[in-house]
Amino acid sequence: MNDGDRRPANLLPAMNDFVDEARSRVAHLLRMANTDDDRIRAQIIEYADSTPEPPVISRGAGIVTTGCARCRRTAWRQHDCEGPMWVCGTCGHVEPITLRCPQCDLDMIPPRVGAPDRWECPGCERVASTVP
Ligand SMILES: [Zn+2]
Ligand SMILES: [Zn+2]
Repeated sequence: MNDGDRRPANLLPAMNDFVDEARSRVAHLLRMANTDDDRIRAQIIEYADSTPEPPVISRGAGIVTTGCARCRRTAWRQHDCEGPMWVCGTCGHVEPITLRCPQCDLDMIPPRVGAPDRWECPGCERVASTVP
């Protein structure tokens, strides 16, 4: 993950785009991707179709982005029944978010959909967050 390649904040979509998203998630993702590449568009549409309505702004969690592992553009945090994941707005790359307890070396249990960003270790009392 290369933090230096993150897009500058002024290129991020405005808040209004997120209100829009509730009406048309596919349209929003396609607009964010801003590409004519049919393969990429199909990937995005397939992603939108295969995942539940989302919560880009999930209650309590806010908007969280990171650099895409594949194309280095902005990936957005989404959350479906499988747990939280990063979804790239540019190339459609999806990467599950995992946190590991530094103390027990166990995978931490992700928060429920819509719940605050609070991960719990199954082995000890430690809690963590994906937001720095
Ligand atoms: Zn990407
Ligand atoms: Zn632990």
